[in-house]
Amino acid sequence: MSSEFSRAEVVIDLAAIRHNVRLLAARAAGAATMAVVKADGYGHGAVPVARAALEAGASWLGACSLAEGLALREAGITTPVFTWLDAPDVDFTPGVAANIDLSASSAEELARVAGAAHRASKRARVHLKIDTGLSRSGCPAYAWPALVKAAAAEPEVEVVAVWSHLACADEPGHPSIDRQARRFQAAYDIAREAGLNPLRHLANSAATLTRPDLHFDLVRPGIAIYGLNPVPQQQDLRPAMTFRSQVVLTKRIESGESVSYGHTWTASRDTALALVPAGYADGVPRTLSGRMDVWLGGERRPIVGRVCMDQLVVDCGVEEPPIGSEVVLFGAGRDGEPTAREWADTIGTIDYEIVTGMYRPRVHRRYE
Ligand code: PLP
Repeated sequence: MSSEFSRAEVVIDLAAIRHNVRLLAARAAGAATMAVVKADGYGHGAVPVARAALEAGASWLGACSLAEGLALREAGITTPVFTWLDAPDVDFTPGVAANIDLSASSAEELARVAGAAHRASKRARVHLKIDTGLSRSGCPAYAWPALVKAAAAEPEVEVVAVWSHLACADEPGHPSIDRQARRFQAAYDIAREAGLNPLRHLANSAATLTRPDLHFDLVRPGIAIYGLNPVPQQQDLRPAMTFRSQVVLTKRIESGESVSYGHTWTASRDTALALVPAGYADGVPRTLSGRMDVWLGGERRPIVGRVCMDQLVVDCGVEEPPIGSEVVLFGAGRDGEPTAREWADTIGTIDYEIVTGMYRPRVHRRYE
C-alpha cells in the first residue's frame, strides 16, 4: 500500500479520463467538446481532470459557478471556460476580466453581466439560455424574444451562444428529448432573426453518446468523462475513480457475537473480522451497512454491522487477512470489485452522487 495515506484515498486514473474524452470527442466529431468539470470535476479534481481533458481533445471547459471557473484560470488554464449559475449577489467583473463566458437566463442576469463588462472595461461573452422544458434555469419561451432583443442591442456583451439542457437524455427515446430539440430550434431561429449568429449547445453525456443530431456546435459531457455511463446501451467508458483503504486490525469472534453499533449483525460461526478505517465521514454511506461487499484479498467480502463515522467491519470468513491488505471500496469493476454504480443502485441514488460525494478533505486524493 502507498505510504502517502493512512486511512482512505481516492485514486484517479487520468489515462481513463483521457480515454473517455477521446471517445466522446470522436463521437461528437464536427462539434467541439466542452468537458464539464463542475463540483471539483465530479469529485475527481477539476484542474487535473481539465488538463487531461484538454490533452485528449476537449477545447472548452464548463463549470457551474464563477468561483469554479476562476479556479481554472488561477491554475493557468487559458482555454474557453463557461460558467452558468451563481447567486444574485456574485459580482461577475472578475469573470469578465478573466475571459470567462457567462450565462444569462433573464433580462436581470443580462444586465448583471453587462454591468460587469462595463466595470471590467471589456465586452462580456454571454450564452443565452432558453428553458426548453427542464423548467430549471433558462429563459421561458414567452420572455425569449425580449431577452434576445435586449442582448442584441447591448453593446457591453457579445452573444456567443444559445444553449439549453435536456431533462431525459439518459432515457433514449423519451418524447421530451425531441420536444426540447424543437423548442431549441425555435429559440435559435428567433436569435437569428434578431441578427445574431450564435453557437448552439444542448447535449450532455447521454445526448453526446446517443443523439448525434443534437450535437450542434458544442457538446457538454460531464459524467461520461469520468467513465460512468448514463445510458442503457453499453459504452467503452473507463471509470476513473477507485476508492480504497486498508486493513488496520483483525480479530476473531465466536459464533453468537455481534458487530458494531446496534448489534445489527451476529456471527453464525466463528468469524475472522477486518477493521477498515473508512466510514460515513469518509464517503461510505451508512445506508450501505450490511448491504455491500468490499474487494479484499482478491475476492468480495461483506461489510457486516453498521458503517460508523470513521470505520467499518468486514467478514473475512475463517482467515484473518494481513494487516495493511488493500481494501477496494469501489472501483472500475474490472476485477469484480464493487462499482460506484453498484453503490448507487443499492442505496437508491445515481453514481453522480457517489463520486461527487468523494470530494472530502479527510480522504486523500492521488492521481495516476
Ligand atoms: N451541462 C449542464 C448545464 C449541466 O448542469 C451538466 C451536469 O449536470 C452537464 C452539462 C453534464 O451532464 P452529464 O454529467 O449528464 O453529462
